[in-house]
This record gives sequence, C-alpha cells and structure tokens, in this order.
Amino acid sequence: MSENSPTEKPALLGGAPVVSEGPSPWPISDEAIANVFARLQSSGAWGQYHAEHTQDLISNFRQQYQAEQIILTSSGTSAVELALRGLNVSQDDEVILAAYDFKANFTNVVLLGATPVLVDIDRESGQLDVDQVAAAISSKTKAILTSHLHGGMVDMVWLRNLADERDIPIIEDCCQVSSRAVIDGRVAGSFGDVAVLSFGGSKLLTSGRGGAVLTNRADIAQRIRLYNERGNEAYPLSEMQAAVLVSQLDQIEERHRRRLIGAESITEALGSETCLRPFTRCPKAISDYYKFGMWYHETLMGGLSRDLFCRAMQAEGVPLYPGFAALHRIHARRRFRQVGELENASYAHDSVVILHHPFLLKGRQAANQFREALDKIQEHATILKNVHLS
Ligand SMILES: *Cc1c(COP(=O)(O)O)cnc(C)c1O
Repeated sequence: MSENSPTEKPALLGGAPVVSEGPSPWPISDEAIANVFARLQSSGAWGQYHAEHTQDLISNFRQQYQAEQIILTSSGTSAVELALRGLNVSQDDEVILAAYDFKANFTNVVLLGATPVLVDIDRESGQLDVDQVAAAISSKTKAILTSHLHGGMVDMVWLRNLADERDIPIIEDCCQVSSRAVIDGRVAGSFGDVAVLSFGGSKLLTSGRGGAVLTNRADIAQRIRLYNERGNEAYPLSEMQAAVLVSQLDQIEERHRRRLIGAESITEALGSETCLRPFTRCPKAISDYYKFGMWYHETLMGGLSRDLFCRAMQAEGVPLYPGFAALHRIHARRRFRQVGELENASYAHDSVVILHHPFLLKGRQAANQFREALDKIQEHATILKNVHLS
C-alpha cells in the first residue's frame, strides 16, 4: 500500500495530505513574466498610460474574438457595467440573467436602476436554462446577460436565435473562459452583441486586476467611450498590466489543453460516482475551465456537509470550494423579478462545488490525486461529519 492509501487518516484529522508537493501556483512566475518585468523596468514602460503593449493586446483580442472594438478596463466588474451602459440600460429597464451567477452582475444591473429578472439554470449543466428565457421577456427587457460558468458553456446558438427573433441584445460574460472556448465552431465572446473579459488575479489570463469589453457594434462602443473617457479614462487598464497580459498570450493554447486533460481525467476518474457529478458539457462546445463545477450530494457522502467536505479536500491539497450563492437567496425580493421557482438555482446554491483551475494543469496526475483524496474522505465521512471547525 502506498503511503497515501485511502486508509490513511484524512489530513483534516492530522493525516498526511494526498498532495504532498503543495498548492499549484497561480499566477505562474515563469521566465516570460520575469522577462517582461525586466523589460518594463529598463524601458520605463511601467510608468506609461498606453503604449505598444496596449496596442498589441488590443490587436490580439481583435483577432481572437473577431471583435472590431476593444475597450480595456480596470476589472471584469467595470467591463460588465460599461457593457450595460453601452446598451443604454437604465431606470425601469429589465435585464435577464441566471439566478446562479456572479454577484457583481446582479449588482451592476441594480446600480443602473434596472431590475434583474432571474431565470433558472439547467439541473445538469449548471448554465442558464435557455428554454426559460422566452418566458422572462417583457416589454421592459433591455438585455440578456449570460455567463459561461465553472467549465460549462451556455447554448449561445439557441440564445442568439431567440435574441434575434425578439430583437434583444446579449451581453456575453466570458470572464471564466479563455479564447479557446468554442461553441459550434465560433469563439465564446463572439455571440454576444457585447462580451466581457476579466484579468483578475485568479483568472486564466491575469494582471492582478483588469478587464475588457468587446463588441462589433459601433453604437455600443461609442456610448461606452462617451461614458468612460472624461479627458482621461475612468476605468483604465495600464500599460504595465497590458505588458503582463501580452506575455501570457502564447501560453493560452498549451494551458487550455492541459486543463482540458485535467478536467477530462477527473471526469473519467469519477466515473459513475454519485456523490460528486461534474457539470455536463454542452455537446456543441469546447469548454475551458476557470473553475471545474460539480454537484455535491451530501446524503450520498454519509451526511458530510458541503463545507466540511470542501475543507477536508482542501486539507488534502485539493483546491475545492463551495460555488456561488444563488442571487435570489442573498438579495431582497424587491430588488428582482423571478421567473418560476428557481429550484435548480436553489439546488446549486446548496450543492455546487468548484475546483480551482491551476490544479487542472497537472493533467492526469490531478485526477489520481483528486480520486485518492475523495476515496479517503468517503471512507472517513462519518468521522469527519462530527468535526467542528472554527
Ligand atoms: C471574475 C468574474 C467577473 C469579473 O470579475 P473582476 O474580479 O471584477 O475582474 C465577472 N463575471 C464572472 C462570471 C466572473 O467569474
């Protein structure tokens, strides 16, 4: 038996962790990053507003996303706000979004005086249930805001058709995928009238903070620029950040592939496991993984709560965390309108767990370690259940 056989005590109870080499680093401080900081220092570009790196980044995004207009921003959150402003969302309008989504997307809609209209998610894929969007549309609907979440992909082909029929613009939130995420042969981000990216510290492409708005619609870009440019940009991304981002561009493909292998291997290693089921994938899509989403089934894990399960996995060295809080569960009723009972979003609120992407870069080793940690915890679930953590 290996040192870390499942009979070993869980790390949460003092045993040796499955992952002995420590956490997978993110961001990765490789040679490309070291070089870019050295060049920034010697050229003085670190002190500039905009120069060649900003231009390189914009050209790259233009090409990757087939979007003519690129507005670099200070965060993904500010990019979502600008996208909403670009569509003229204001007082008394409605914006449709999934009841399970990034909190700031909801808050941004409210900030503009509009009402979020919450639609349920799909019970298997964890993504916006596009079949329910039609029922959410009213005469006040100004936009549909949708995010590709936790390794799943929204069926944008279906949503685009509906939006075209009803003449409603889409904001496509691509903060959790790279430019390698593809739906029906088209890059994710090219389906929305406007798309947003995030370069936050934990994201797949990162400069600590930062974001971008992408669009082919000149009217949207112009409205955003009018708001953002006040003789000076209100939500800027610096040349220094752009340089750090540019240095990561040629690694997107390789890292994407490794994450796919990691996620596929874990899915295989889980097999028909019922206590933990990966989000199902959209058949016409190639996904990417900022987080790898799974449904956790507490009762099939000896009654071990999701929080304790995640804490136990983390102690083993597996970066697994509870997912988002569902929006209808954390905001006052008067802030939103809801469509139906939102039971799947409620289920997600209680049972989604998400694995952080750097772990996936280990490929097949990620699957072995994940499975080993899971087996260990499964075996000791009834003891772990009674652990009291501060
Ligand atoms: C990270 C993220 C954002 C924006 O995040 P910032 O930290 O503001 O850059 C928006 N939407 C989703 C789905 C995200 O995951």
